[in-house]
Amino acid sequence: MFYGSGVLRGMLVTLKNMIQSYFCKPEDGGLFTSQYPEKRLPEKERFRNFPFLIYDKEPENLRCVACDICAKECPPKCIYIIRDFDTDGKPLKKPKIFDIDLTVCMNCGICEEACPFDAIYMDHEFEISGRERQGSLLYHKDDLLKSNEHFHKIRPTDAAAIDTRRQEDEAKKQAVKKEPPKPPSTAS
Ligand code: SF4
Ligand code: SF4
Repeated sequence: MFYGSGVLRGMLVTLKNMIQSYFCKPEDGGLFTSQYPEKRLPEKERFRNFPFLIYDKEPENLRCVACDICAKECPPKCIYIIRDFDTDGKPLKKPKIFDIDLTVCMNCGICEEACPFDAIYMDHEFEISGRERQGSLLYHKDDLLKSNEHFHKIRPTDAAAIDTRRQEDEAKKQAVKKEPPKPPSTAS
């Protein structure tokens, strides 16, 4: 080893990569950068960008029960929820308004972790720029709704595990409902 050999070896690697970039495809160790937007590399399953609200089969079956936990846990407080009510003023287990200001969201994923109802998950979508300065990134409930099929498409491992757990929980609930009521205790 002589003085500066590390620098020289580094320069050789750079030179090798530069030459390879002209002759090899990326998959053969050539150009490292993807020619976006013409080419998009597939996102990793756990890649996360902004949240979405999940529904089962139809949008009216959204899982969110408007409990407000995610809004309370969101560090920059960019989730805004108002519960829905029926015509008699009885509170319903669904949000009337569910807004997320994506200009403030910091992609932390805490809403997903905090939600006890498997109702909000981080999406892969990142091409959401708009032309308006104000408002175009204030997403309302309808903008945030996406199906469980979408979740399966972007995060198949998590989606399958969550579906299994939800089915098991539902089966347990049904079993408890079917259990005959216990006879009253005769102990004095
Ligand atoms: S997304 Fe989850 S945590 Fe947030 S309000 Fe809906 S049910 Fe509650
Ligand atoms: S990802 Fe983080 S910042 Fe964005 S809405 Fe969820 S909790 Fe808030």
